[in-house]
Amino acid sequence: MRSLSAAELLTIWEQGSGQPNRHRALLLLAAACPQTSWQQLAQLSLGQRDAQLLSLREQIMGSEIVSVATCPHCGDRLELTLMTDDIRLSAADLPLAVAVAGYQVQFRLPNSEDLAAIADQPDLAIATQHLFQRCLLSVKQLSQPIEAAELPAAVITAILTQMEQADPQADIRLALDCPTCQHQWQVAFDVVTFFWAELNALAQRLLQEVHLLASAYGWHEADILALSPQRRQIYLEMIYG
Ligand SMILES: [Zn+2]
Repeated sequence: MRSLSAAELLTIWEQGSGQPNRHRALLLLAAACPQTSWQQLAQLSLGQRDAQLLSLREQIMGSEIVSVATCPHCGDRLELTLMTDDIRLSAADLPLAVAVAGYQVQFRLPNSEDLAAIADQPDLAIATQHLFQRCLLSVKQLSQPIEAAELPAAVITAILTQMEQADPQADIRLALDCPTCQHQWQVAFDVVTFFWAELNALAQRLLQEVHLLASAYGWHEADILALSPQRRQIYLEMIYG
């Protein structure tokens, strides 16, 4: 994985604007991993995808993550500072198969292709079921193939539990503790949403810098973006103090 230049980040930001997060995630990884095909990236499990995005985020923005949360009990805002290592979970090497009550099921982990396949389904329950069925590779009862719809709830739960444990990076939860009212709760941390919001802020800042430097010196956008952030800052200070 390689890091991305200011100009490349701006291009990705532009291509990803108005796109769903699953597409934005792949745009970023495709630019950072030019040796890997789009299809290969789309077939990474969501946890593998997020682990790669976390590494890319670390290369571009550093390893400190600062976020804010609102206490659902007293409404206080608290600032969270964590390190990328705090939310990097190692995937358990579990078999992607369960054998429960005479049922044997082999499955794979959900990936970006699955998210794309269910994107147009407005009913969340149907979408979730469709995604689940896409991930089933072999469904048998007493060694005879059966339909996925015939699986009892207990077997489905066992499969979902195994999926979560095999791909923990796909669902990061932070345990929070309100310093004001001591309320404790959990929030989901979505790497794609967080990283894209940071990219959005970075893009706005870069465009502003290009505007100011181009106005003052008549330089081209590409030349300004090729400057290091330090140099851009020094020139901006010379102009605007
Ligand atoms: Zn509180």
